[in-house]
Amino acid sequence: MDQVSLTLAEVTDLATRALMANGCNEANAAAVARNMTAAERDGCKSHGLFRVPGYVKSLRAGKIDGQAMPVVTHTGPCVVTVEGHGGLAPLAQEMGRQPLIEAARAQGMAALAIRRTHHYAALWPETEPLAEAGLVAMAFVNAPPYVAPAGGTKPFFGTNPMAFAWPRADGGAMVWDQASSMMARGEIQIAKRDGHDLPPGAGIDKDGNPTTDPAAVLEGAQLPFGGYKGGAIALMVDLLCGPLLGEVSSVEAGAADNRDGGPATGGELILAIDPAAFGGTDAIARGERLFTAMLEQEGVRLPGDRRHAARAQTPVGGIEIPKSLADTIHDLIG
Ligand code: NDP
Repeated sequence: MDQVSLTLAEVTDLATRALMANGCNEANAAAVARNMTAAERDGCKSHGLFRVPGYVKSLRAGKIDGQAMPVVTHTGPCVVTVEGHGGLAPLAQEMGRQPLIEAARAQGMAALAIRRTHHYAALWPETEPLAEAGLVAMAFVNAPPYVAPAGGTKPFFGTNPMAFAWPRADGGAMVWDQASSMMARGEIQIAKRDGHDLPPGAGIDKDGNPTTDPAAVLEGAQLPFGGYKGGAIALMVDLLCGPLLGEVSSVEAGAADNRDGGPATGGELILAIDPAAFGGTDAIARGERLFTAMLEQEGVRLPGDRRHAARAQTPVGGIEIPKSLADTIHDLIG
């Protein structure tokens, strides 16, 4: 496949122009472009420029309001709510971040309840900065139904991801960020695009038969990771992001969606915990000792290390994307 090299500044510029040419105001386009640039920088291809066509489809269809300005309110001493008004999640996350940090430091822990936004990205971009601010963080997002519950054969849960971030002694963060399905949907779409098979256990076809064909899984259902254990996590994420926030469940998000492949409406819950308020005055140092002991075993690495290695290695010359994707994005700019 022909590739095109881009600097990170060119990634940001391309994403911003594509979004602004299709109905986004500058604030929304810039927030999404920052998110995509971070994904390209960290080698997370399925959340980089690959997502532009999906965003544009939903902006053109009027499903996403690219002009929406989120409104931040304090709905409790430790609850910050961001009403997204049908816009894009990255701007709502950025606007809620500092109020969440301040509430967590004041109260010991705090929650950010994001409502009526369209989330189409990874969760490490919103949890990593909280850990870099010295807080322990978790985030949860639900999505339209693509995943059968354990034992079932029909889509019921989104790929419902969650992330956990822990502050490091050097000011960085240890973050894990994973779907509750065996594979993220974007990875399956990329496997279909690139003609690769899926690992066994990723999904079933529309008749409920196990398959490694990405096209058949996209028509059928994905499976949770680890059988009923992943299924239980998908259920928890659905409850936290749907009923708890007064928002849609995965099934309700699917019913409300126009199925254009772009991100559906929904909620996101982000939690931030100040270790100092929990008796863990040396929590970060003890975390470091735990990591060191864990890494003594050969073959072990910390979650997030692949991303950080990619970040360090992203050459000054930039990153590569398929030429076909670059051409598509240029066409969308017009
Ligand atoms: P992966 O299975 O690729 O990775 C999950 C986590 O495990 C990562 O933090 C990864 O760190 C870590 N990890 C992987 N291998 C190892 C290892 N050998 N040892 C230790 N840690 C390891 O992620 P998924 O495919 O489940 O999800 C991909 C992304 O898709 C996530 O960012 C998720 O948030 C996003 N997503 C978004 C959705 C949405 O609706 N917005 C829906 C579903 C998923 P590392 O990155 O360093 O490899």
